[in-house]
This record gives sequence, structure tokens and C-alpha cells, in this order.
Amino acid sequence: MKTTSPEWGVRNWIQLVIFTLTVGIGIQFYLFVMQAASGGDITIARPGSVEGFLPIGALIGWKRFALTGEWDIIHPAAMVILGFAVVISLLFKKAFCSWFCPVGTVSEWMWKLGQKIFGKNFKIHPGVDYPLRGIKYLLLAFFIYITGSMSADAIYGFMQSPYYKLADVKMLHFFTKMSLLTAIILGILVIGSIFIRNFWCRYFCPYGALMGIFAILSPTRIYRNPETCIACDRCTQACPSYLPVSRKNRIDSPECTGCLDCTNVCPVEQTLQFQSGLRTQKAWKTPVVGIAIVLIFVGMVYAAQITGHWQSRISAHEFSMRLKMIDSPEVAHP
Ligand code: SF4
Ligand code: SF4
Repeated sequence: MKTTSPEWGVRNWIQLVIFTLTVGIGIQFYLFVMQAASGGDITIARPGSVEGFLPIGALIGWKRFALTGEWDIIHPAAMVILGFAVVISLLFKKAFCSWFCPVGTVSEWMWKLGQKIFGKNFKIHPGVDYPLRGIKYLLLAFFIYITGSMSADAIYGFMQSPYYKLADVKMLHFFTKMSLLTAIILGILVIGSIFIRNFWCRYFCPYGALMGIFAILSPTRIYRNPETCIACDRCTQACPSYLPVSRKNRIDSPECTGCLDCTNVCPVEQTLQFQSGLRTQKAWKTPVVGIAIVLIFVGMVYAAQITGHWQSRISAHEFSMRLKMIDSPEVAHP
């Protein structure tokens, strides 16, 4: 596939800021866990946003909330972050993946590195690409099946389990105490991401698959005006999801991540636009989408914090006590 990439822009800055914050949050959580494990005074706060890496907890939390109206008090921020991702998907397609998700950001950096090395990225034959894309939906179906089969009482019981209360530490250990198998799989994903655009997101990420389903309901789409289009094909070349933008009048695909790279490389004014509903409506410009995403995130997190829906109710003392059991069989992955 040929190379046409937009200049570094608003979206890339937001990605960089979120990625940097995520690394900072990871380090803060690591130091918090180290301090809690030492048995001394705990002076470092546990960052709630680390729960963004607990999507299954968020899923069962939302199911229980739908059934009982009760919020998860163990990992409450996980529900807020999943809620934010769903809101963004309903507004701007899978923009959570291309503007916010730190895994999506690393994926993008990888394939752009591949572009620099090889002058292009590679495209898998449609006969293999389509079935591979189904994997993320199968994984999502599995998690929805598990969630769907749990009653509100079963979810509550699971939330009170020693495993769930230390699920964030288990996730941390996934990276800090990586097994050989995990390292091999991660290595394959990283190398694959250099050759194929968004390798993990495109084929394996169930979170992205879920966002794609909500994105179908989004009124916002990429629209192409065939009367002014000069058929230069730049939009198709730029699309990280390999969508045939220059051959469609509107993009309905759940693979569209709302990255707006296509609109940003289009050389003809008002030919390719991100619009909600009819063509006559105003287009969403890239900076406006960025500001909206940031404001929605900050607003949701702030609202959750001041209403007590963000910080875990597990006290630092209880956390410290439980941490001593982290390697015992009762805290093993169910
Ligand atoms: S169609 Fe445009 S907005 Fe959608 S993924 Fe492709 S480049 Fe991004
Ligand atoms: S980049 Fe713009 S002008 Fe070129 S093919 Fe796409 S929509 Fe048409």
C-alpha cells in the first residue's frame, strides 16, 4: 500500500499527551503497590484511572448497574472509562481507538515506523483479512457471553472475591512479571504492527470490536462529495483501516476510527467531511473533535470524582493486607 500520511496534528498531540499520562499513571500505581507491599506508611495515592485496563470488570460492572442500579465500588473508574469510550463511539465512530487509547497510539507509532523503514505498510489478502477481523468479534462474543451468563448476585460475589479486589495488581504483574509466553505473544503483536496498520486493533481487540458496534449507531460519518472529488486516491492511501474512501460516498464501516486522516489529506476543500446526518449540516473539523473528546473525558472524570464514582472504596490498609496474598491460589485467575 502506498504512503500518504497527514502532517502531525491535533489528534497526534492528544494521543501523545494521553500516552504520557498513561505511562505516568502506570509508574504511580507501581510505586503505590511497592509501598503497600513494604508494609510501611502509604503516601502515594492509588490512581483510579489505572482501572481503564480492566475492561471485563467494567463490563460486568455495567451489567450489574443495569440490573440493580448499584455502582461497582471496587473498581468504579473502570465503568467510567468504558462509559466514556461508548459515549465517544456514539458521537464520533471509533474515535476512542484513534484519539485516546494508548494501545492504539503505540500501534499507530509501530506502523508509521514500518512505513519509514519499508516505505509502505502491507495489506493482507482479503480472503485472510476478513476471517482474521472476525477474531476480535469472537473474543467480544465470549466476554459478552460470560457477562450475560452472570446474575447480579454472581457479579456481586465475584466483585467481593480476593481476585477481583487485586485485579489491578494482576494486570500490573502481567507487564512487570511477564511470562515467556506473554513476551512471545507481545513480541509477535509488536512485529506484526510494524508491517500491518493497527495489527492488534484490526484483528484482536475486543474493546475496539465493542466500540465498533456502538459506532454503527453513531450519526456521524465520513461523507465524500463525488462532484468535487478529483479521484486522487489520497484518502484511501491514508486510511489506517484500509477503507476504500475514494470509492464510497459515505463510510458506514464499523472499522472507521474517526481519525480524520482522510479528510486531512484531501486536497479539495469541502469534499471529504466528517458530518452528523445530512450533507447540508456543518462538518466536524479536526480541532473541534479533539476539544470535544477532551472536554467529555475531563467532564466525566470530574463528575465521577465529585460524586464518589471514581475512587475505589478499598482502603490502603485493606489493600496492603490483601497484597500479601497476591500469589496464593485463592487470588489466582478464575
Ligand atoms: S475513513 Fe477516514 S476517519 Fe475513518 S478510519 Fe479511514 S481515514 Fe480515519
Ligand atoms: S482525497 Fe479527496 S479528492 Fe482525493 S480521492 Fe479522496 S475525496 Fe477525492
